Amino acid sequence: MISFDALPDNAPLKNSLKNALSGRFPQTILLSGDAGSGLAEWAKTIAAALLCESGAARPCGACVSCRKAEQGVHPDLTIVDEGENELKVDLARRIKAENAIVPNDGDRRVTVIHHAQNLNPAAQNALLKVLEEPPGYAFFILTAEQPDALLQTVRSRCVDFALEPPKSAISDEEASALLAPYLDALAAGREDGLMKAALALEKTPRRALLTLFGLLQAALRDAVLAANGVQTLPLMPALSKQAAALSRAVSSARLLEAYDFIDVLLDRVSRNAASAGMTCALTSDLFRICYL
Ligand SMILES: [Zn+2]
Repeated sequence: MISFDALPDNAPLKNSLKNALSGRFPQTILLSGDAGSGLAEWAKTIAAALLCESGAARPCGACVSCRKAEQGVHPDLTIVDEGENELKVDLARRIKAENAIVPNDGDRRVTVIHHAQNLNPAAQNALLKVLEEPPGYAFFILTAEQPDALLQTVRSRCVDFALEPPKSAISDEEASALLAPYLDALAAGREDGLMKAALALEKTPRRALLTLFGLLQAALRDAVLAANGVQTLPLMPALSKQAAALSRAVSSARLLEAYDFIDVLLDRVSRNAASAGMTCALTSDLFRICYL
């Protein structure tokens, strides 16, 4: 049953949403959070609350509107989720046209746009007008993993609600234990050993991948500094042996290239890219960058 209680614990956000719902709810909100933080469930629950027919706590989960919203068949609820695709101006025009029509069932119409950071500038400009002066019945919920990528003109129309970042799914110690054999194999120039170590990384959930890739990058930074003879406290003391070995095996130019490559991967993982195959791609590219 759709309800705020069914969402993962985030009391501050639940309270501020409930407060807003008991008054004049803003017509455009921006819900931001990391990939994997459940943005879709939160947005759907807020949409159900806006459409709920109950006079009491909304969403009640039991009325016809709540059930239609939960099943994704509410005629006044549009959910746009194009994954990682660019959201173009024709989509924005469609949303505008849809919102020019009064609602079917009740007195509200809700449009959810997921991954709003993928709206290209033309699409954002096309949406701006309706976000600035929406019809009284129209509500917009934009979700974004990277809210900063939205145009300031759009952001200024939105009331912000942010999910707390999810706790890391893996501790630094666990991550270091997984990364040590990986870096050992990389320093030894052993592609087969690297692939074997990558299989262990592959089993970690996506949220943990962000931590893993972040620590891997920190170890590479330590290796670059060591290769250049810079005396400094390592970022990853648990992997300093591996960083030292890497600094001897691979030139600092290549290590820097590997460091930048992980930046790209981190961006992809945080943008919701599937984790399957990520560590294998990482491994073959990392080997190529370091040795070929
Ligand atoms: Zn309801």
